[in-house]
Amino acid sequence: MTRQVLGLAMDAGGTMTDTFIVDTDGNFVIGKAPTTPWDESEGFIESTEDAFEQWGLDEKTAFSQFEVSVYAGTTMLNTLLTRTGRQIGLITSKGFEDILLMEQGRQVWSGYSHADRLHSATHVHNDPLVTRRRTRGVSERTDMFGDVVIPLYEDDARKVAHYILSQDVEGVAVCFLHSYANPANEQRMEAILREIMTEVGVDLPIYLSSHIRPVIRENQRVNATTIEAYAADPVRKQLHNVEESATQRGFRKQMTTMLSYGGLANIRHPRLHETLISGPIGGMLGAHYVSQLIGANNVLAVDMGGTSYDFGLITNGTFNLNNEPEIARFRLALPSIELDSIRGGAGLYVSVDPVTNRIVMGPEGAGANPGPVCFDKGNLQPTVTDCLAINGYLNKDNFLGGKVKLNLPLAERELKAQIADKIGLPVNEAADGILQLWLQQAMDATKRAIQVRGGDVADYVLMGYGGAGPMVLAGVSENQPFKGVMTFPFAGAFSAFGCTTTDYSHRYTRSSLFSLTYDADVETKQAVADGLTKHWQELEAEAHESFDSEGMDHTKVDYKRIAFVRYGGQLDDVEVPFDGEWTGSAADIDVLLDSFEELYTKMYVKAARYPKAGYAILQVALVASIETRKPEFPQLPDKGPIPPAAAYKGERKLYIDGKWQTAGIYDMDEMESGNIVDGLAVLEHPATTLLVPSNRRARMDERKFVWLENI
Ligand code: AMP
Ligand code: MG
Repeated sequence: MTRQVLGLAMDAGGTMTDTFIVDTDGNFVIGKAPTTPWDESEGFIESTEDAFEQWGLDEKTAFSQFEVSVYAGTTMLNTLLTRTGRQIGLITSKGFEDILLMEQGRQVWSGYSHADRLHSATHVHNDPLVTRRRTRGVSERTDMFGDVVIPLYEDDARKVAHYILSQDVEGVAVCFLHSYANPANEQRMEAILREIMTEVGVDLPIYLSSHIRPVIRENQRVNATTIEAYAADPVRKQLHNVEESATQRGFRKQMTTMLSYGGLANIRHPRLHETLISGPIGGMLGAHYVSQLIGANNVLAVDMGGTSYDFGLITNGTFNLNNEPEIARFRLALPSIELDSIRGGAGLYVSVDPVTNRIVMGPEGAGANPGPVCFDKGNLQPTVTDCLAINGYLNKDNFLGGKVKLNLPLAERELKAQIADKIGLPVNEAADGILQLWLQQAMDATKRAIQVRGGDVADYVLMGYGGAGPMVLAGVSENQPFKGVMTFPFAGAFSAFGCTTTDYSHRYTRSSLFSLTYDADVETKQAVADGLTKHWQELEAEAHESFDSEGMDHTKVDYKRIAFVRYGGQLDDVEVPFDGEWTGSAADIDVLLDSFEELYTKMYVKAARYPKAGYAILQVALVASIETRKPEFPQLPDKGPIPPAAAYKGERKLYIDGKWQTAGIYDMDEMESGNIVDGLAVLEHPATTLLVPSNRRARMDERKFVWLENI
């Protein structure tokens, strides 16, 4: 029978670009290649080739069969962090020209350690995405009710347009006060900009905050709008390149990408900044999908890659959505799956502090090019991966399935000269110490993730993925009473896998202004219901239009209506989905408020309820989605505890617990369901390596997920 492929998902991380391919029967294969930041389509093609090879697929046939293709990654985040985006002009309401320089207090301090918050002398502001010289204000004002109280001064607007366009800009962002309530002034400004552009003979993109993110609070709105102009559009070029290279190979659909709240969207999506942290989100979605398969309600998902260590929680079967996350020191009104990250990947540089003579980890890492010392591609500064390599954890002939040969003598020489000799330890002992430090960092972060949310480790299953996830799984869970500890043969492309487990969906939000007293009568409730109906209808129309433009069948769309409800006078709201059919009656409002009370009680406690304060709904949202086909994990018959002969690859010496010890080496792909391997052992896959210490064993379950158990 010939194989028919269905979906392709990619995760272009800081170090590696991972591929996950599913066929029509739900089988899958993964591929991996170094990320190529200068032109991501190179890494994309190489990574897909790696996967095609394993299934003996012909590139042209495979590409022409793909129904969906998802490309996620961290390019946009890196564009922001390294400030390598576009030159943008910004037009604000007069008097607000310093908005990017002043920032919001909370944003200014975000990402600072406790010590740095105390010693404000170390404090610096964000580098603004738009320079003050390219920012100008225009006289106009809309109030919070959407009434224009000062009309747009057109002379002023023309002057500013001329000025901004004379400043070598590649795009113009417009953000006026309260434009979410009434976009008229911004739209008029756009028209004037267009006129002047024609006059001076340029054609540049214009970004209106009322279009990009029509929500209350100008800081978050201006952030979204400038990020879209500054970082998202250049990334769109990369995405188009990737799509183009797929199309040349026979791909017939359009490329999609992952939104931060876990839906897929076409790369032509007008709000591409919503994909700011797409890759790791894929991982969380995958973890959620698996958690449902294995019936685990609480999961701690950890992703150890080459660049960062990311972790997130699934509690009571759902992940937390953060409505105002701080990403790269920007406060955004962008609902995102909650996720933490530390710079602690396996590519982290290690050095010795010349003053204290202590080991320093990071904060930078080696990436894939030139990569760790053992890659032998020119970098001589040791990394964590070099320590793993010289202490025998990594198979020097199986890194990326043997595509990268690890030069151990070189890594050892550099580690000895730059680290071990300086701190006066034998090289393997020094490497061991570094690995302990590395693990400790990851472990601290992980434990905190559960504790700060009031959870108990014993209720959680620890799920580890990313190329180096299986390597740290034992260390991170040592002496921790996790309910279970698991990983996957495809751990190296888990985030890409996760991208195939979600639906094609968009989320639309809008600020609103509804309030209800405790004893509101039917007429008042009806008025609010009418207002909500109007908002949702408008959002539906918007969804309809964008699904059409993305070539999706809008008749298949499923809508979920959401209201953000809070008690009167409160500062935070609860996201309340309206389950069931919305008829727009006053009775529907009662149902909505009941759901709010129920959710509120779940999140806080019953005693915290305060209906007497009345209710306010300051934001509404609509999620429009179309279901996609997901990979399947059929339950396989148990083949008994002893792995087949083909799975056994021999022995290797590992430097562990202060001495060289012999470990059994196994091939994860050859292992079968029910197989058990006692530590000390190493389970290998072309893209990942699982360490099984001597107090643990690895068991492959009926879906070929791997559990690390105590002996
Ligand atoms: P990722 O960024 O998720 O691709 O993870 C990359 C990391 O996976 C590398 O830095 C390695 O330390 C680790 N790794 C473990 N085993 C392998 C392997 N066989 N091939 C490639 N990377 C591996
Ligand atoms: Mg990765």
